[in-house]
Amino acid sequence: MFVEKHMLAAGTPYATPYYVISSGIPGPVFMMISGIHGNEPASSRAAQGIASRLSRGDLILRSGKLIIVPLVNQIARRKGIRGKPDLNRTFPRGQGTPASHPLSAAVWQLALRNRPSWVLDLHEANGLSQLNPKRVGQSLIISPASRAEGLAKQIVKRMNLTIPHRAYRFNIHYRERAGTSRMAFQRLLGARAVTVETCWSLDYAMRVRMQTEIVSHFLRSQGMIG
Ligand SMILES: [Zn+2]
Repeated sequence: MFVEKHMLAAGTPYATPYYVISSGIPGPVFMMISGIHGNEPASSRAAQGIASRLSRGDLILRSGKLIIVPLVNQIARRKGIRGKPDLNRTFPRGQGTPASHPLSAAVWQLALRNRPSWVLDLHEANGLSQLNPKRVGQSLIISPASRAEGLAKQIVKRMNLTIPHRAYRFNIHYRERAGTSRMAFQRLLGARAVTVETCWSLDYAMRVRMQTEIVSHFLRSQGMIG
């Protein structure tokens, strides 16, 4: 297993580290991005935690290649804001249409170079989806008719078995929104793309744990971790 750390958008104000973990064994290319929005800290903490465990050798990648961008939007994170413009509306909207922001363009180029078959985009949101179906906190979001649907449903079930408090359980949401990373990865790259959302109002450590568990379920389902 090789772990490389690189800079995305190197030499620009948007520069941010990313990790490429190669198992050396054939398998899926799996990409995980987090911190597209600057005010969703538990998701980036979870992604960085997984990258750090892999870097230290505490976690072993058994097959394929894993690409992790733990904190896409460093500037928004430092300000503690979602980010302006909303980076998750700036991804390419069609074949031949470029990303409309240097950061989403850099993420997109990274994806084009690596052609992931899976992409997880980790976020946090307001509100509990179990209490209000219009809210996406505690949900996995997929596009309608996504090839990720079966596995996303299984993972929601697995997660909910471990969450005694009903209001904190996860739901599946179906959304299609142009300019999001999920839609670009699915439509333009043919990847199975899932947006993971925990809810801001829950305990921070619990949110980090849930994000980590969800990612682990996805990686395990692909035979990439034990
Ligand atoms: Zn977000």
